[in-house]
Amino acid sequence: MSMNPREELRELIAQAREHLRYYSELGLTHIGEKSAPASTIIPPPQFISKPAITMPTKKENETEPSLFGEPSLFGENASPAAETQYANETLEDIRRDLGDCRRCKLWSTRTNIVFGEGNPKAGLMFVGEGPGADEDATGRPFVGRAGQLLTKMIEAIDLKREDVYIANVVKSRPPGNRAPESDEVKACIPFLFRQIAAIHPKLIVALGNPAMQALLDTKIGITKMRGHFQDYPRIPEIKVMPTFHPAYLLRSPDKKREAWVDLKKIRAFLRGEIEP
Ligand code: URA
Repeated sequence: MSMNPREELRELIAQAREHLRYYSELGLTHIGEKSAPASTIIPPPQFISKPAITMPTKKENETEPSLFGEPSLFGENASPAAETQYANETLEDIRRDLGDCRRCKLWSTRTNIVFGEGNPKAGLMFVGEGPGADEDATGRPFVGRAGQLLTKMIEAIDLKREDVYIANVVKSRPPGNRAPESDEVKACIPFLFRQIAAIHPKLIVALGNPAMQALLDTKIGITKMRGHFQDYPRIPEIKVMPTFHPAYLLRSPDKKREAWVDLKKIRAFLRGEIEP
């Protein structure tokens, strides 16, 4: 049965209210904002076509810097050959290989493995640190409160959750939502690397410190790195945009404004309006 004009108007107002609510949750103070003119988005000249934050360069015979002060996560597998070997895999192949994983201690406390979900051909991928309680219970990434905010962030850049791919560094929940430990990251991250190689997105959004440090193999903090495009070291044509984790944004709502700046850069990059 079709709605009468009064009901239709009421429905439209409800939808507009809902949109305004999540834009304001993201820190927007006014509406009618077009994507900023390129001149206000494009980073200063020294940032164009190279990573905005200069990553430490490896001297000959020097061990690469790493997240946990141990040998690099990238190690000998960082060669392009390793990635080409993964490129023909499907996500199903990778999930099958993960199996009922017991490669680290997290298996003993988890309920479900959270492999990742979304469009296997996504141009945009989001990576968090690891499942929380809701994700552990459902086997799906980012479905709790932080996940609901992530969904709003995705919608705020005119995409739907189904358009993107969402995964985590570790696929089993660290107890009590602690950050994943180095042995857990080392055991699990090859699966994320393989997911990235199979999806081959244009851009990966690294959510928070653990995800960013694992993806970029750096110890630099998120506050310094956020908002600056980087090359994904294993496949440099894929870019990485570090930004705040939605769980952090829930705890520190004043940071949503900065996250919104990052989201607008992500949207402009995906639309081809700016260079990394
Ligand atoms: N936080 C994460 O980092 N990942 C999830 O899947 C949920 C919360």
